[in-house]
Amino acid sequence: MSATDPASAGRPEVLVVAKLWAPMMEALHGAFRVHDRLHETDPAAFAAVAPRVRAIAASGESKLPREMIARMPALELISVFGVGYDGIDVAAARERGVAVTNTPEVLNDEVADLALALVLSVARRIPQADRYVRDGRWPGGPMPLARKVSGARLGIVGLGRIGKAIATRAQAFGMEIAYTARSEKPESGFRYLPTPRALAAEVDFLVVITPGGAGTRKLIDAEVLAALGKNGYLINVARGSVVDESALIDALEAGTIAGAGLDVFEQEPNVPERLLRLDNVVLTPHVGSATWQTRQAMSDLAFGNLEAHFAGRPLLSPVP
Ligand code: NAP
Repeated sequence: MSATDPASAGRPEVLVVAKLWAPMMEALHGAFRVHDRLHETDPAAFAAVAPRVRAIAASGESKLPREMIARMPALELISVFGVGYDGIDVAAARERGVAVTNTPEVLNDEVADLALALVLSVARRIPQADRYVRDGRWPGGPMPLARKVSGARLGIVGLGRIGKAIATRAQAFGMEIAYTARSEKPESGFRYLPTPRALAAEVDFLVVITPGGAGTRKLIDAEVLAALGKNGYLINVARGSVVDESALIDALEAGTIAGAGLDVFEQEPNVPERLLRLDNVVLTPHVGSATWQTRQAMSDLAFGNLEAHFAGRPLLSPVP
């Protein structure tokens, strides 16, 4: 049902600001009067609708600056389909009394699975091995040897919900686990190092899983990469902004780190040409939570927050 369908008249009006998963859109259309990215497709029509918009449905990559929030005086809720909300000006929303929700927990397993998949892929050179077979190079001789993962030292930058799920998996590989975060977590039983640089110097694989935003911008810089060293691998499943991408490419080109597994990039969906040319990287297109099962769980939670709000029930997962 579209926003112009008479059956949706009288329902709360929701602006969708990202290309959302189809089943989530279906759920929205069933309950609300939906304006799908109207602000981009028809700014004049959006100007007419903006005063009536009571909720926004966004994705984890959406950008909602203060000016945009200010254009919707009746706004009550921003529901983010994703756990990261670094593109949303939460302070501006709060000042206006607009609640913000995200989808924590339900994607922990999925993102942790991908982090380990990238560790294994980059160390065992799985994509390269696949190409080796397809290109008919096997009869010419075996592939060069790879790097062992089991028993290696793993450093986690950000021991939060997903970071802990990564640690659980790494334990099954007999890995030695250390971490850094803003605060020490003695209950984890893992070794704490106060900075990413100190952590990088002690590990073979450095996995980054902090939120994005101003607090973590370029947290992984040239110095951290130098500390990781020529036998070290960087895995980023957090946000592109957390890693200094040009310093990373320099280090990969110069061989001052061994390789990288990257799910996120500074200017998504654009990936620098220099990165694409490198053989010691495994690249995935921001698919940390991208399975049917997890997207359904995220959709249920993101929609559930909207439903709860308009039914006058407590929100299921407001951001802290
Ligand atoms: P979380 O539970 O809030 O954990 C975040 C962790 O990062 C916490 O341990 C926190 O430390 C740490 N941290 C924050 N700022 C830091 C800093 N400046 N230096 C060092 N550590 C810092 O979040 P989560 O649910 O695990 O999600 C983490 C992030 O993963 C999301 O925000 C999102 O950006 C990303 N993500 C990516 C994908 C993908 O598709 N690739 C999917 C989902 C999520 P304290 O515990 O000390 O506060």
